[in-house]
Amino acid sequence: MIKMAKEKVSKTEEEWKKALTSDQYRILRLKGTELPFHNEYHDNKRKGKYYCAGCGNELFTSDAKYDSGTGWPSFFAPISEDKVEFHDDKTFRAVRTEVACARCGGHLGHVFDDGPGPTGKRYCMNSGSLRFVDEK
Ligand code: FE
Repeated sequence: MIKMAKEKVSKTEEEWKKALTSDQYRILRLKGTELPFHNEYHDNKRKGKYYCAGCGNELFTSDAKYDSGTGWPSFFAPISEDKVEFHDDKTFRAVRTEVACARCGGHLGHVFDDGPGPTGKRYCMNSGSLRFVDEK
């Protein structure tokens, strides 16, 4: 059976500006980034889930979070691969793989091949793209 895509969220730029903080807007909609170590979740070790700050899509759990030493929240896998989309990002000399929310298209960060097991992936995310909720 083919898995159907979840209902997409789309807003105009004006609607996004109203719905998001200026940092969230800059990161999610303009593909910005935030300073390493000066962001909300890089050192968050609590149990819980990380949702898209733009649309509430479930993206990561604390079980897949690890300390990459980069100063950004890092995960070895999303909750499932259909939560995110991958795009080639050619804004620097090396081609990087951008990770975006599959539901609203919001920019989350990048994925690299130098992560730990079991996947070997490092999802390097922006805290500003995420909203953490403690496990009940
Ligand atoms: Fe989203």
